[in-house]
Amino acid sequence: MRVAIVGAGVIGVTSALAVKNAFPSYDVKIFADAFSPDTTGDGSAGLWSPYLLGDTPIDNITRWASCTHQWFEQLWKAGLSSKTGVSLIPVTRVTSDCEDDINKQWTKLVYGFQKITDEKLQRLNEEHKSNYKQAWHFITYTAEPFLLLPWLMERFIALGGKVEKRNIKTLHELAEEGYDLIINCSGLGARELVADKTVTSIRGQVYRVKAPWAMHCFLVDDDSCNYIIPNVNNVVLGGTHQEDDFDCSVREEDSKSIYDGCCRMMPSLKACKIIRAWVGLRPGRPRVRLECETLSSPTGKEIKVIHNYGHGGSGVTLCWGCATDVVEMIRNLKVQELNSKL
Ligand SMILES: Cc1cc2nc3c(=O)[nH]c(=O)nc-3n(C[C@H](O)[C@H](O)[C@H](O)COP(=O)(O)OP(=O)(O)OC[C@H]3O[C@@H](n4cnc5c(N)ncnc54)[C@H](O)[C@@H]3O)c2cc1C
Repeated sequence: MRVAIVGAGVIGVTSALAVKNAFPSYDVKIFADAFSPDTTGDGSAGLWSPYLLGDTPIDNITRWASCTHQWFEQLWKAGLSSKTGVSLIPVTRVTSDCEDDINKQWTKLVYGFQKITDEKLQRLNEEHKSNYKQAWHFITYTAEPFLLLPWLMERFIALGGKVEKRNIKTLHELAEEGYDLIINCSGLGARELVADKTVTSIRGQVYRVKAPWAMHCFLVDDDSCNYIIPNVNNVVLGGTHQEDDFDCSVREEDSKSIYDGCCRMMPSLKACKIIRAWVGLRPGRPRVRLECETLSSPTGKEIKVIHNYGHGGSGVTLCWGCATDVVEMIRNLKVQELNSKL
């Protein structure tokens, strides 16, 4: 069985590793025009937190996010943090929204989830000169893709997986080369590769700074959101989420609002050393696409495709859960194939 994976971002590499792990005899190859450290995840802080997922059904989000959370826990407990970038951090999440967030299913997956008392909320509002209506504390993981992706790739190659740097114009190209199955993890690239114009960019600009004294994650879950997320060697300050915005250049006005907003929440950041400003384009979609399709090439060849893209602001959060579903879909395809031969 020959399997082609298109994409070497966090979704492609986790899918490739999960497939090679589950089916060691398969010939699995990743095709991509960008690899780590040049993928969308590489600049992200990799916080486990469902975010910007459109109308993706909540049950799917919960299943994928829960599976990924458990995987991070295993990596963390196995002492692989320095290699994988998986860290456990305390988080404070605030919002100016009055809606009661307490029933969201993800809150049951993190550790020690609790609502902040009114008294503490008032103190936070005074300190931040803000108008938060609700706030929560919990503990969860970051899995920094800059470290996680090379580690995953190393494991994939050690299992016999292959990689090729190449732009794929159409999926038929791979069908004609004799691949039996294609797993499409092209992120924003799906706009061109499979002409899916529902995939659109959600632009994110961040700073990476040196501030080793900042060990606490702070998230403002509002329209104009600021966040502080510590990683292993530095801290990510965010951020923007501009829809249908494909501009990859750093904008001065965004830099200013990120720096000012984060320093307002944590004044000690004024002493930080700025390492770089970065922009990434999240692959937004009305809902994550994880499904199987049969395509016919112009020469009449049929090929199975599993689409796995459109993870918005949560590619890291959902990656292992989605990769596990990809493996399950391949098992189902095998059963269908056997049945059709009976
Ligand atoms: C500022 C910012 C902060 C973020 N923070 C977080 C966070 O804290 N937690 C979280 O869970 N998520 C976060 N995200 C979101 C996360 O980074 C993305 O959801 C994730 O990286 C998407 O991964 P992907 O593999 O689908 O796409 P990508 O990383 O974009 O990879 C797509 C791959 O497909 C390849 N490709 C596409 N088309 C073709 C083609 N035609 N031929 C060959 N190769 C092709 C590309 O070269 C690339 O290898 C953040 C994003 C940004 C921008």
